[in-house]
Amino acid sequence: MSLPIFHSTIDGFGRTVDYLRISVTDRCNERCLYCMPEGYKGWAQREDHLTANEIVRSVEAATRLGFRKFRVTGGEPLIRDDIIEILERIWKLPGTQTLGLSTNATLLSTLAPAIKQAGVRSLNVSLDALDPGLYHRITGGRLSNVLDGLCAAEAQDFEMIKLNCVLLRGLNESEFLPLIEFAATRRMPLRFIELMPLSKPDILSDPNFLAVEELLRRLDAEGSLTACDDFRPGNGPARYYEFHSPRLVLPAKLGFIGALTNRHFCEGCNKLRLTADGKLRPCLGRHGEIDLRLPLRSGGDVLSGFREAIANKPESHEFLETYEPGRPMTAIGG
Ligand code: SAM
Ligand code: SF4
Repeated sequence: MSLPIFHSTIDGFGRTVDYLRISVTDRCNERCLYCMPEGYKGWAQREDHLTANEIVRSVEAATRLGFRKFRVTGGEPLIRDDIIEILERIWKLPGTQTLGLSTNATLLSTLAPAIKQAGVRSLNVSLDALDPGLYHRITGGRLSNVLDGLCAAEAQDFEMIKLNCVLLRGLNESEFLPLIEFAATRRMPLRFIELMPLSKPDILSDPNFLAVEELLRRLDAEGSLTACDDFRPGNGPARYYEFHSPRLVLPAKLGFIGALTNRHFCEGCNKLRLTADGKLRPCLGRHGEIDLRLPLRSGGDVLSGFREAIANKPESHEFLETYEPGRPMTAIGG
């Protein structure tokens, strides 16, 4: 079925914005050091969260405008009781071309088949350490749950399962090579992400921060890195390399997300974020948001919220300038 296109999805800087990340909850069953502020309990009011209907109506409006790629995230999306219904309904919308899910994988061991069945094509799984003690220190969770979840997901034959590791100097540096080996053996791309000041102002300090360029230099000394310029799954922000090393039976596909150190990081940004409380956020690293919840609940114009968000999409984030975290990453949606 062809969809009427109401407006262009090209922003003021010539970027096509056709990718929506949808945070379905600000809550999580883990508490990663860099993500979840201590003592954070989520919004007091459950009514603040968009319902499944409101989420699907928002996504449907986005498809009418030309959005085609969707990723469901959080918080931990799999803790929502109605998550399978939400995924299924987004996948069934005529405009949906790709549907991904970001998860910490702790609940995947039971949910993987239903998630695949619902239409999800690709998974992004957070994995910052393979040492169980360190994994617990960083996330508060149990590594064995994640490994069981990954195993269950592998059995479902998703188009792609990517692993995400946040670079934490002095904390998980010992894990980089084991993680690379783990990912290579399973043929899963592994992305290293620079720490961003998203939820807590104190997390981004010189002692904590490790730039992707430094990791690239270290890996270059351990093996050989070949740029894969044509490998850009989902047109995401990662630069990919193939890494060969005598330690590896198979080469690893490694992605590097240098949000803070790559000056060209924002040039290809193709996304908007829908927060769990119904705000459209044009940029992760800027506070501006456009409210969709009121039009959703009062029968107002949801499409114009999307148009306004595209029109207001800034050229770049301001992490290196004045940005102070306002509300947690779990609410905004990673
Ligand atoms: N709970 C899911 C998960 O952990 O994958 C989905 C939500 S999480 C907010 C999405 C991604 O954001 C994860 O890969 C996580 O590592 C990343 N993230 C969270 N806080 C971050 C920070 N301060 N800097 C960089 N990445 C961060
Ligand atoms: Fe939860 Fe994911 Fe944030 Fe960790 S990164 S606290 S798993 S939302």
